Amino acid sequence: MTISDACLRYAEEKHICPHCDQPLSCCATPPMHVGDGLGWGTDVFFICLNDDCSLYVKGWAHIEEQYGKSASYRYMKLPGDKNGAPMMVGSKIAFTGNIIDIDAEKGRSERYIKEKECVKQLQTCVAEKNLEPVLYLITDEEALLPDRREACNKLEELCDLACIDPIRNHTFRHKEIGQNADLVISRILKKLFRRECQFCFEIIKAQAKTCKHCGK
Ligand SMILES: [Zn+2]
Ligand SMILES: [Zn+2]
Repeated sequence: MTISDACLRYAEEKHICPHCDQPLSCCATPPMHVGDGLGWGTDVFFICLNDDCSLYVKGWAHIEEQYGKSASYRYMKLPGDKNGAPMMVGSKIAFTGNIIDIDAEKGRSERYIKEKECVKQLQTCVAEKNLEPVLYLITDEEALLPDRREACNKLEELCDLACIDPIRNHTFRHKEIGQNADLVISRILKKLFRRECQFCFEIIKAQAKTCKHCGK
């Protein structure tokens, strides 16, 4: 199976079981619906698979008493869920086959790896005059917003006219980033005494009366 990048981010989160203080395992949600027919709404969830967990150990007797069947509870949490809840499991091995190998999943997601790399490079891109990670993050609609905003800041610091074409040729799904990038471009042009020709969109001197590229 492959899981989405959003869920990869969740998979990296660490959660602790309040019943046994052990880290929760990140599991892939099984392809079935839970009760209300809405499905899980997520590719992954977190669950305590510790067989010594007090919730799980006590659960067998509790359910036997209450419902007369053989089952217990495992503590589980959905991504973004603060409190978590007990989930009924019918056997010791339920969900143990669904544990996600996060490293293997990451390896499958080239985009995710590239994003992480670019975020790291943001620290050094200005000193290295490296426009590439900045452009990547600004035009990667899947990247996290704070990183894309930071990339816009670096874009301005880099003050490199080469950024204009890639940004102009990108369709921004996220309006704020698009407007941000446009603003930065106009500031860069101003700083370098340049403007875009309104006819051919080549970069020309701000004070030019006719465009050296299209003659208009
Ligand atoms: Zn536990
Ligand atoms: Zn022109």
